[in-house]
Amino acid sequence: MAKREIDLSLVDVENREMRLGSIISWDGSAEELVDNSRYELRSRDKRKSLEGCSGKKEKGCRLCELNMPFNQQTMCTHSIVGCQVGNIPDCILIEHSPIGCSAIHARFNLGYKMGLARRGKKIENIQIFSTNLLENDMVFGASDKLRQTILDAHNRFSPKAIFISMSCSTAIIGEDIESVAQEMEEELEIPIIPRFCEGFRSKHWITGFDISQHGIMRQIVNKHPQKQEDLINIIALWGTDYFTEILKPLGLRVNYMIDMASFDELAQASEAAVTATFCHALGSYMATALENEYGVPQVDAGQPYGFKGTDDWLRSIAKIMGKEDIIEEYIKAEHERVLPKIEALRKKLSGIKGFVATGSSYAHGMISVIRELGIEVDGSIVFHHDPVYDSGKSEQDTLKELVDTYGNIDHFTVSKTQQFQFYNLLNRVNPDFIIIRHNGLAPLAAKIGIPAFAMGDEHFPVGYDGIIRVGEALIEILARKKFGQVLKRHVKLPYTDWWLSQEDPFILARNPGILDEVAEPQLLESLTEDASPEASIIKSA
Ligand code: SF4
Repeated sequence: MAKREIDLSLVDVENREMRLGSIISWDGSAEELVDNSRYELRSRDKRKSLEGCSGKKEKGCRLCELNMPFNQQTMCTHSIVGCQVGNIPDCILIEHSPIGCSAIHARFNLGYKMGLARRGKKIENIQIFSTNLLENDMVFGASDKLRQTILDAHNRFSPKAIFISMSCSTAIIGEDIESVAQEMEEELEIPIIPRFCEGFRSKHWITGFDISQHGIMRQIVNKHPQKQEDLINIIALWGTDYFTEILKPLGLRVNYMIDMASFDELAQASEAAVTATFCHALGSYMATALENEYGVPQVDAGQPYGFKGTDDWLRSIAKIMGKEDIIEEYIKAEHERVLPKIEALRKKLSGIKGFVATGSSYAHGMISVIRELGIEVDGSIVFHHDPVYDSGKSEQDTLKELVDTYGNIDHFTVSKTQQFQFYNLLNRVNPDFIIIRHNGLAPLAAKIGIPAFAMGDEHFPVGYDGIIRVGEALIEILARKKFGQVLKRHVKLPYTDWWLSQEDPFILARNPGILDEVAEPQLLESLTEDASPEASIIKSA
């Protein structure tokens, strides 16, 4: 095991596809993905000597992935930075961008308010400003506008820190946000934190989490920590506080990061006794940075989902805290408490098949929970895949743990919220329900008669009680199946019969020759218009 390189002296972060070899397009079984990922090898050799897709050894090579000719839609790193550092109540984010880059704020505001409510914090609006770049700014530059926005934000709201995020537009015209930040930091005497998160820098929106965490590590986290032996960092999103109850027997107080955490709560991250997360894909960067820089240990385990995952996770924290003597008794008592309810749920859910469509290691945990409930899973999607996490700890290899504990998943796909592929993926395995985050995909499942459980509260499946919560929710979700069947009879999908009949959702990547048959715009048109002449050309291809 080797720790990944995280260099906090640099203002910028290396993209995840280069740092970890992450991918967004892949199709095969979960076992195959474990083998191809070569977690141990990547962890040991970092990125120096791995064989790349070309067959040659390449520095920073990615796992070989399918090259799709287009993206139907995607989030970007700029958006992710918005929903991370834009969700710190006593700080402000300034998006140095045209106003269109802020179009998602209404949704972010809702998520932020729900998160504040779940944690019992004062409910308020997100505090994100935009410099609202116009045509003249693109020609003559907009640094003065940025300076003025920083001053206005400071004068009106007295934030404890101000973040600035780069967008595609400001990256194209070469705005020097780092110099402006330094200059304004001296003038205002609060951290001004530039974040280089222009959307076109990476196909992986998840790099935006690393960029957000990097800025907090560099300019907010306390550099002279006074240890707090009862404090545990939980790197999270907006979920309900189930962790306090789970960790109470170990005498731990939870310090949630980043969303809804105050400046001071983020600053004390370096003072904690241990760091853990609900999702290694999200939390591994910051956990590893805290471990490398301040000696805050992170868990040597997977994630707290299902019996085995929760047992291992608790044991790892207990070991770090020197409380191994009490943990076995706690685990035994918890198993005895929840098992009768879980047995009853298993009987009710017998013969049901599920499908998970969420972020990467969170999906591994989610599948563990539904397999604990006796539900069959022979297909699922993750929106990206990291072949290794920043910690390099083999105990955190969540996909391998899933396969070793609960068996293979025949159709395990990496696909980044692509609606047009989702139909084929669901059709291939025909599940009774789906569990989904990024619920823009959920209506498509409903239109083909499959009820969807939109997992808004990502902590819902955590811990032993999480198995029960999910089981009970699924019984309610399955009750909507009839509604889905009726909806299916009255809805027509906007795709051609040719596309809907494809068994391989990646046919356009595997057979690029199809694209040579017709000009690309014509092909795209034929995918959505049944009667077009191009559709018949493709049908005969
Ligand atoms: S991809 Fe670029 S232009 Fe689009 S929202 Fe993100 S930063 Fe703005």
